[in-house]
Amino acid sequence: MLAAPTRPAAPRTPAPRARHLRDLLNTGEPTFSFEFFPPRTPAAQEKLWLAIRQLEALGPDFVSVTYGAGGSTRGMTVETTERIAADTTLLPVAHMTLVDHSVAELRHLVGRLADAGVSNMLAVRGDPPGDPSGPWTSHSEGLTYAEELVRLIKESGDFSVGVAAFPYKHPRSADVETDTDHFVRKCEAGADYAITQMFFDPEDYLRLRDRVAARGCDIPIIPEVFPVVRTGFIPRSEKLSGAPFPADLAEKFASYGDDAAAVRAFGIEHAKKMCERLLDEGAPGIHFITSNQSTATREIYREVSGRLNR
Ligand code: FAD
Repeated sequence: MLAAPTRPAAPRTPAPRARHLRDLLNTGEPTFSFEFFPPRTPAAQEKLWLAIRQLEALGPDFVSVTYGAGGSTRGMTVETTERIAADTTLLPVAHMTLVDHSVAELRHLVGRLADAGVSNMLAVRGDPPGDPSGPWTSHSEGLTYAEELVRLIKESGDFSVGVAAFPYKHPRSADVETDTDHFVRKCEAGADYAITQMFFDPEDYLRLRDRVAARGCDIPIIPEVFPVVRTGFIPRSEKLSGAPFPADLAEKFASYGDDAAAVRAFGIEHAKKMCERLLDEGAPGIHFITSNQSTATREIYREVSGRLNR
């Protein structure tokens, strides 16, 4: 957990050189961007920085670093984001969660990121540590929903704030309508953009976009793409997203049996086709989950860069 500030943090505004994601999205050109997670060990850190340097060469519009579920990875999220801001040409987006944080700690975190020149955040609630589907308990001096974090960050300074969107609905939402209601509340709280949970059928993204638009909400919703290059990723994707993996696609992956090269080639082709369809349908960009590796992401990027006007 981050150390609490000894005095209330004053509102901060990031360094003037910091670019805003909302301005990039307003240009109408599709963005491409990468998601990393905080490394746990020195070896993992080395691997992450190799991937960051290799992907930096592609000139992505931004990169995001997820916020650890707890413990030391949280410090590593902040350190990695600060280092990206200081030592690379990349535009960092810092994920923040409410888990185990008081409002004072959240304000402190916003101030620390602003001091490092970070002007872009992704405000998510986070899941209960240990058992992500277990009961949610708010910190006694904290917040309960992501929409409150959007407000807190917006009141703290000039930040572009994104939120999470769920093509299949969030696993805790009773139904799609309720899920849409709560998503729209995050937009009304001031969200500038959204990034989706991973999904594997572009129709799910298009349905989400249509139902949000039908409610008069027009913030850019960036689809997140997770290239499945090993069949072991399938149960992992279900655990991470809380959504079922499409049965027909699972069958297709299974048909390659132990042929790891064929599984990988099919996974890359599937991710490429998803990106093409999404961009053809006017998605505002593609956010790639990299799993802190660059090879598959670079392959897909090469395939779709023409559609990204690069
Ligand atoms: P919320 O928007 O607060 O919604 C949580 C649940 O409460 C939903 O079911 C929603 O419908 C409901 N709800 C919302 N508002 C209300 C209300 N006013 N009244 C009643 N019910 C309400 N997790 C991490 O730990 N670290 C990360 O870095 C991280 N990054 C992510 C990035 C993306 C792009 C996505 C899609 C998810 C990410 N997550 C991350 C996972 C996320 O924290 C979980 O999915 C979490 O369970 C939901 O977060 P949320 O921001 O959507 O929460």
